[in-house]
Amino acid sequence: MESQIISAQELKKADPVFGQLSYNDHEQIVFCNDKDTGLKAIIGIHNTVLGPALGGTRMWNYATEWDALNDVLRLSRGMSFKSAITGLNLGGGKAVIIGDAKTQKTPELMKRFGEFVHSLGGKYITAEDVGMETADMDLVRSVTPHVTGISESLGGAGNPSPITAYGVFMGMKAAVKEAFGSDGLEGRSVLVQGIGHVGEVLVEYITNEGGKVFIADINEARLQEVSKKYGATIFADDDVYSAQVDVYAPCALGATINKDTIEKLKVKVIAGAANNQLADENVHGNRLREKGIVYAPDFLINAGGIINVYAELEKYGKPEIMRKAENIYDTTLEIFAKAKSDNSSTHDAALKIALQRIAERKAQQ
Ligand code: NAD
Repeated sequence: MESQIISAQELKKADPVFGQLSYNDHEQIVFCNDKDTGLKAIIGIHNTVLGPALGGTRMWNYATEWDALNDVLRLSRGMSFKSAITGLNLGGGKAVIIGDAKTQKTPELMKRFGEFVHSLGGKYITAEDVGMETADMDLVRSVTPHVTGISESLGGAGNPSPITAYGVFMGMKAAVKEAFGSDGLEGRSVLVQGIGHVGEVLVEYITNEGGKVFIADINEARLQEVSKKYGATIFADDDVYSAQVDVYAPCALGATINKDTIEKLKVKVIAGAANNQLADENVHGNRLREKGIVYAPDFLINAGGIINVYAELEKYGKPEIMRKAENIYDTTLEIFAKAKSDNSSTHDAALKIALQRIAERKAQQ
């Protein structure tokens, strides 16, 4: 048959799952549907070479099922690289539940989801993500052992968000060192976009080091609360991407560095907690480099959460958790050095190391 070039839209129609643009060598995708509880979930298992696929469950009111599928595929792939670069023996997976976490999440729905996780026999291990609380993971735990991020009273390592924030802070300091020659945040201006579980603790770290923090969020009540608590300035302008600050810390949702925002950026450093910050990793990592912006790769510096939940599986305690999170500082500096020697973007340099670790393990199997 004659080969032809087809558009992304046509590709979607022709191969709606395996032809998804975000589909990238995933091992398995599980669609979970339960009429009684209203559960509609997708579990993405990207890679299990290094170990079981571990990644959180996100509950979000996606505009379309396509958006949910796209999100879970991008997120589960990111988890493979996050664990690989952090040196953890875990593969990459993630789950999304379609719906509003505030109004549609019920104990029955969470338990039903847990049963689907259980049916995978430990190939996928779940945890918290946006829209999930420790109490939800406790419900999942009542039907399957394949869950982390459970309450400390049940043997869990507790809330992962403060550890994530600490790791992001370490990555930010390394990036500030790269951009300005010294890693101190005193006198530096930082815009934190999204002041939820991670963002708030990050605001605290930066403030404690004498940084000038600006905050942006769609939740007005949170803005007032966090501003009052840490003396942070609410960023009044709607256009956060044009902010004249030293550091932009994306801590809300992904893909905020995209074709519409990238040319507006005036910052010298990007370092934040959100997953998949680059809308197109093949394009935007290089564009940031051309613009002279130091980008701390998201999957490297936001690994604190997975370090924390990994402790539940490997039974190590708080000092080791903090040591591993602190190590993000050194790894980030190593990535910057590698990017320079490879003449590549920092994202590509980090990805290369993660892929290499997976390939080496595969060769031994
Ligand atoms: P969260 O839900 O607690 O907080 C997100 C915050 O972002 C909320 O306050 C929300 O109102 C705000 N927000 C949403 N859309 C926004 C927008 N368009 N503009 C500005 N603010 C907006 O989530 P979290 O646990 O703090 O996680 C934040 C990000 O970090 C997510 O992308 C998550 O996937 C990622 N992450 C979190 C962890 C963790 O341990 N919690 C680990 C790794 C990565």
